[in-house]
Amino acid sequence: MDIIHLLPDSVANQIAAGEVIQRPASCLKELVENSLDAGAQRVQVLVRDAGRTLLQVIDDGCGMSEMDARLAFERHATSKIREAQDLFSLRTMGFRGEALASICAVAQVEMTTRRAEDETGTLIEIHGSDVIRQEPCVCPVGTNIKVSNLFFNVPVRRKFLKTDQTELRNLLTEFYHIVLVYPKVAFTFVHNDEILLELPAGTEKQRIEAVFGNPKRNVYTSAFVDVKTETELVSIHGFVVKPEAATKKAEQYFFVNGRYMRHPYFLKAVQNAYSGTLANDYQPSFFIYFDIAPEAIDVNIHPTKTEIKFADEQTIFQILMAAVREALGKFSLAPTIDFDTSGSIDIPLPKSDNVTRPQVSINPDYNPFHTRGAIYPDRPPKNWETLYQDLPASRNLDFPVSRTEENTLELPDVESCSLWQFGGKYIFLRHRDGLVMVHQHRAHAAVLRAQFMEQLEHTQGAMQQLLFPEILSLPQDEMLLVGHLLPDLRAIGFDLEQLSPDSYSIQGVPAQIATQSPVPVLQQILHQVRERGADTQYEWREQIAQTLAENAAIPSGRILSESEMRDILTKLVALPQYKRTAEGKTIVSLVTDDEIAKRF
Ligand code: ADP
Ligand code: MG
Repeated sequence: MDIIHLLPDSVANQIAAGEVIQRPASCLKELVENSLDAGAQRVQVLVRDAGRTLLQVIDDGCGMSEMDARLAFERHATSKIREAQDLFSLRTMGFRGEALASICAVAQVEMTTRRAEDETGTLIEIHGSDVIRQEPCVCPVGTNIKVSNLFFNVPVRRKFLKTDQTELRNLLTEFYHIVLVYPKVAFTFVHNDEILLELPAGTEKQRIEAVFGNPKRNVYTSAFVDVKTETELVSIHGFVVKPEAATKKAEQYFFVNGRYMRHPYFLKAVQNAYSGTLANDYQPSFFIYFDIAPEAIDVNIHPTKTEIKFADEQTIFQILMAAVREALGKFSLAPTIDFDTSGSIDIPLPKSDNVTRPQVSINPDYNPFHTRGAIYPDRPPKNWETLYQDLPASRNLDFPVSRTEENTLELPDVESCSLWQFGGKYIFLRHRDGLVMVHQHRAHAAVLRAQFMEQLEHTQGAMQQLLFPEILSLPQDEMLLVGHLLPDLRAIGFDLEQLSPDSYSIQGVPAQIATQSPVPVLQQILHQVRERGADTQYEWREQIAQTLAENAAIPSGRILSESEMRDILTKLVALPQYKRTAEGKTIVSLVTDDEIAKRF
């Protein structure tokens, strides 16, 4: 008996749907891209319960004929390519003809659509690939598609969805990727009847401001300079942030031919262009748009992947780096008001000073304490490292450190052993089996991290009031995130009040970071939580504690008294895990007597 048979379409579509539609955000992306491919000038997105219950996209695009309305839901039905050759000259977002077939396989879909030349439109309703009804209807030109109860027939998928908070953030992230390349199209995004984004048609810069800043004040985009270059291979244009407006958490966007892409290699090119101008841990925000012949990039990639391959990446790397350098160079030749304040940045003004700190009014994101952990206002001198280059031999001290020793290493009794500081960076102490080296900043950060976790647990963070409240302005997705983290941020000592739909005022901060500008610290927390996908309370508390600890810990280069060193070590060895940081970096390392002997 033959045993091979063809899967019914409904099953095949469900399998394909697993690839294309993984979550509400991927469904939204496909629907909005279809609207744009249809030439829409205005796209409205209506969402309920982060897309679980409803995802609706209404456009004023070309609409579909009665026949096409039905065909659109068939697999591999597309109006965008006809033969394999067309794949190489694509300018539309979609082309596989898989999206609608996949969506209707895993949801209840109702669509009305009408072309300008038709008097009546078409209504079609499909539940899990079954056509429930198709009939003529009265509707405006364009397409209105309603996707309800996503994954109603795939319980496993439904279970894998994260909290509404996370799924809504994913929806917005996906939405940003699209709206940033279609500034001439007006968009609205409504969630549970609340308008989260209202984006009028405008220029790229206006769109960036509307998404991340405040269209009325243009504060966000005023920190950017224009990048522009045209070569035979590629045209590049966009905006990069001035070096002093870099933040710990940056918005970094590349787009190619109207499509968002991730490109770690090109990111390196941008970072290189800034080399030397950014403080530790600070990242430049940028929005860079590439235009390139479609033949020179590989578009035939997985539908949900955002990596794109270029034919000549090295050359583009060089072109991009040069273009960004030039943009930054031009800007520094023509100083702006932001730059005029740079003369004062080396003098950290204490909070208690009676004058308003100039950077507060000019650039709220600016951090006057460029070293980490500025709880010690007596900053080390700039070139402190050279102060310690005493013995010629000490320059290439790279002890081979035995891993096995390190794992079993127990610290001696730190109350009484002799210890000394080395290079302003390490604490050395004598051990039964050799020499123990402790990384001072990491050790202190580990101790603080544990303390912050403890305080979060018991809601007993120590708060210090700010003399001058600061403003934290955020894009919508991060406003949601702050709302989510608010109880914990308050528990640890942040006094935050919502000021407007897109900002909080910061009136108090955890005492341990009281001398730093709280804005970058909060941005860094949000960034970490987002990047690490911290979804449970424990996970996001870890990110809060970690970020605060890194910022509050003693920086390298600070000279410690013996009692300070002993204090850190005593607290360090009391931790259940003290040899490595939570990220696995070495805190404590041993050079054995044997290893020392071998050197002679
Ligand atoms: P693809 O976009 O890859 O062609 P889809 O499954 O997303 O495949 O859509 C199938 C077809 O349905 C499209 O090629 C297009 O002709 C039509 N279509 C889908 N959405 C719209 C829309 N909003 N307006 C007009 N036509 C649409
Ligand atoms: Mg499509």
